[in-house]
Amino acid sequence: MKNPELDISGRVYTDQSSLERFSRDASSYRIIPKLVIEPANEDDILKVLDYAGKIGETVTCRAGGSGLSGAAISPGIILNLKPSMNRIEDLDEEMVVGPGAVLEDFLAAIRDRGWMLPAVPSSSAWCALGGNVATRSTGPRTARYGTIDSFLSSLRFITAGGEIVDTREKLPPFLEKGIMKIRERYLADATSRELFDGRPFIAGGYNIRALSRYEDPREIVTHLMAGSIGTLGIVTEIRLNLIPFSPSQGTYAAFFRSIEELGAAVNDIKRFNPSAVEFADGSTMAKIGGELLTAEPEVAGVLMVEFDESREQAEQGRKIMESFDLWKLLTIPVGSPAETKLWEERRRILPSLWAHARKKGWIVPSIIDDVAIHVSDFAAVYKELQKLMTNLRHEFSVFGHVGFGSIHARPYFEPEKGNIVEQIMEVTTQAFRVLQKYGGTLVGEHNAGRSRSVYLEQELGGSFQYLRDIKALFDPKDVLNRNTIFDLAPITDNMELAS
Ligand SMILES: Cc1cc2nc3c(=O)[nH]c(=O)nc-3n(C[C@H](O)[C@H](O)[C@H](O)COP(=O)(O)OP(=O)(O)OC[C@H]3O[C@@H](n4cnc5c(N)ncnc54)[C@H](O)[C@@H]3O)c2cc1C
Repeated sequence: MKNPELDISGRVYTDQSSLERFSRDASSYRIIPKLVIEPANEDDILKVLDYAGKIGETVTCRAGGSGLSGAAISPGIILNLKPSMNRIEDLDEEMVVGPGAVLEDFLAAIRDRGWMLPAVPSSSAWCALGGNVATRSTGPRTARYGTIDSFLSSLRFITAGGEIVDTREKLPPFLEKGIMKIRERYLADATSRELFDGRPFIAGGYNIRALSRYEDPREIVTHLMAGSIGTLGIVTEIRLNLIPFSPSQGTYAAFFRSIEELGAAVNDIKRFNPSAVEFADGSTMAKIGGELLTAEPEVAGVLMVEFDESREQAEQGRKIMESFDLWKLLTIPVGSPAETKLWEERRRILPSLWAHARKKGWIVPSIIDDVAIHVSDFAAVYKELQKLMTNLRHEFSVFGHVGFGSIHARPYFEPEKGNIVEQIMEVTTQAFRVLQKYGGTLVGEHNAGRSRSVYLEQELGGSFQYLRDIKALFDPKDVLNRNTIFDLAPITDNMELAS
């Protein structure tokens, strides 16, 4: 459609089916946008920002739409970056990619170079690099190698005010001065530093630790943009420094009779630097119909563990697992079809749980689905959440990246049990209290968004002001992805509460 007030080279959609298509991401929300725009280039984005300012609408970026916190939808303008901003360029030292490049395509491109990006979410077939950076995404191998943030060398982005920033170059004076002022205050604020440093490794919200980790304002800004869910700028180019691919040297599936033993094993295994430690509980296995991940009455949970340093390291790890009271230990031959199957079954857990819930007529909203905790607290937190769900009479499944404390807890809600909104609020509020007790957070791997940010301010107390100050510096008029971190509605607003 041509819009006389918005003369761009890309495309503008106002038809009902396009608006409907972009009214959902992978979260539980539905919000019909006003416009969906496919910008052809940066110039188009500048025009969209100008137009949004004139009509008072918020601008929300969309990469793959696989986000689980409701941050890629909005009642304003959706910028769909996938169709045209998806270049993948292989330079000698680094990869340069557009925000719309699909992660799986990118992985295929780097495979030939013998490189890997270890932070690969299970949604890799549809998520895109812009969304990966904006959520600071993870994958099983984050246990050893970190999030995508560890591989970012620089970014190019457009601010709400229309400045094009390339963090390889000098920053605009307002940004450089402003960020260094916030940094100075933060460095002198021992209470806030202790709070942010003490949060679990995968905790979401702005990447405040960048303020103390880096000195160069360009680096600080690059790493603050990572995890900012499109609220600080629109990323148009991503530069990544990758590492050589490191194949598995040993893969295991260890089935535990008790969660306490499993939790203790995770902490022991971690001393041997595993590349991945993934988890699924008995309830998860009972619902996914796996061939390797099979539920047994005696099994409380399984760990899927990979070592990639050496055979000796893998052997040491195996011995550690054998020292626990296991129901079964599967040693999966390296490079075998069984190894591929194990990781495929792990990858399929969430879609399989969704399918199971649909069949039962249950509602399974993304509410406490990416809790971040300290790894050492895993068993205690699991047990408390389990008790909570039993008291509230909700069946629930738990799985996730236990190796770095990212836990996906999925309670099932049955419409016949009463008011769903009240049930959701009760579970979320009480789960939040459990997490507070252990210094954990509801805002974890999938980062901030409509379903959890409201708890961020409560969690951070006075230190939340740093997030407000950073937002005010980058986007003083609150144009970008409004109402996803600040000024939030109750988490059940706009939630689809049907199975
Ligand atoms: C089955 C399944 C498994 C998953 N497994 C994992 C996992 O293992 N690890 C993990 O981390 N996540 C996981 N996720 C969550 C999700 O896939 C990730 O958060 C992913 O990084 C989102 O990427 P996307 O391209 O789909 O982003 P989108 O959903 O399109 O957007 C996510 C956020 O990024 C912002 N954004 C997008 N592009 C830009 C841009 N160019 N500039 C600024 N902001 C932008 C959006 O506005 C939004 O706030 C999973 C999701 C599903 C459905």
